[in-house]
Amino acid sequence: MPTWRGIIEEYREFLPVTDKTPIVTFGEGNTPLIFAKNLSKETECEVYLKFEGANPTGSFKDRGMCMAITKTVEKGFKAVICASTGNTSASAAAYAARAGLDCIVIIPKGKIALGKLSQAIMHGAKVFEVDGNFDQALELVVKMGEKYPIDIVNSINPFRIEGQKTGAFEIVNQLNGRVPDYHFIPVGNAGNITAYWKGYKEYKDKGKIKSLPKMMGFQAAGSAPIVLGHPIEKPETIATAIRIGNPASWKQAEAARDESCGTIDMVTDDEILESYRYLPSKEGIFCEPASAASVAGLKKTFKAGKLKKGSLVICILTGHGLKDPDCAINQGAKTYKVPCKVEAIVKELGY
Ligand SMILES: *Cc1c(COP(=O)(O)O)cnc(C)c1O
Repeated sequence: MPTWRGIIEEYREFLPVTDKTPIVTFGEGNTPLIFAKNLSKETECEVYLKFEGANPTGSFKDRGMCMAITKTVEKGFKAVICASTGNTSASAAAYAARAGLDCIVIIPKGKIALGKLSQAIMHGAKVFEVDGNFDQALELVVKMGEKYPIDIVNSINPFRIEGQKTGAFEIVNQLNGRVPDYHFIPVGNAGNITAYWKGYKEYKDKGKIKSLPKMMGFQAAGSAPIVLGHPIEKPETIATAIRIGNPASWKQAEAARDESCGTIDMVTDDEILESYRYLPSKEGIFCEPASAASVAGLKKTFKAGKLKKGSLVICILTGHGLKDPDCAINQGAKTYKVPCKVEAIVKELGY
């Protein structure tokens, strides 16, 4: 047996499974919690990055999908469907392939990151690009689910939240029982902030921890319905994974914010891109643009003087940088074209 058995076996007592549940797993979870030296110095806090890009399909979506698809199989469905801006479909397609289920993916027109699309296709999903935004794609999925025996694995599926809450358990365990003071996280459909808050609260109810973190959610400025207080018809942001105008878990996210005395705020695309470049170059960790919203949020909070010095801070890096290679290349990455000669290279290096 592998020493890490995936989120369901590791956290069985917190999850809706029985001895008979047929578990579908890739050994997801157990992602690195990495001390961020430069970021800690800059923000005068003790900052750790939870690198969810290290999950089997490269994003935190695997935690929820493991649980959701396990329940799909238990319920006896033969097919799953989701609307997706990318990572949900990549994860659904992989778990469906493993379980021998058909996978139907509805993607909004344009702007899907290449890495994610290639995963869905290679795992054998049927991918439909529709001329609508994410919210319209989700409406279509709901209609399909009502009419046909197809299990919906979008975040309206309650088992997704159950699986994703295991991230909170892991953080506490990796910190040897310490509880973060602040938990920074990107917010799109708001399932993940909901899930982490649920996880922390369950650990407290079980007596495993005594305090709770402040939940610090960050939306992209062009897609910030919760911050602005109304749905956004045409959400825009470079961070496609959080380009959501009407979050499915809106109310739950507000509850997490209010119960934890935290905040849900927004960061501009420029702030997101600054952190998106900072993390791989200064901390050695490459995440996708949406993930950088958590660190951009931390920096913004620090600059506003709202961060208590010396705090224990977690930033969730939700997905891997390789998911969206176009975005990386568009950051002005350049190669040096030189003759194949030592002198030519040394000259560029300025040695
Ligand atoms: C899905 C996703 C998000 C947003 O999570 P929500 O649960 O929708 O708020 C953020 N980052 C990445 C990389 C994602 O895939």
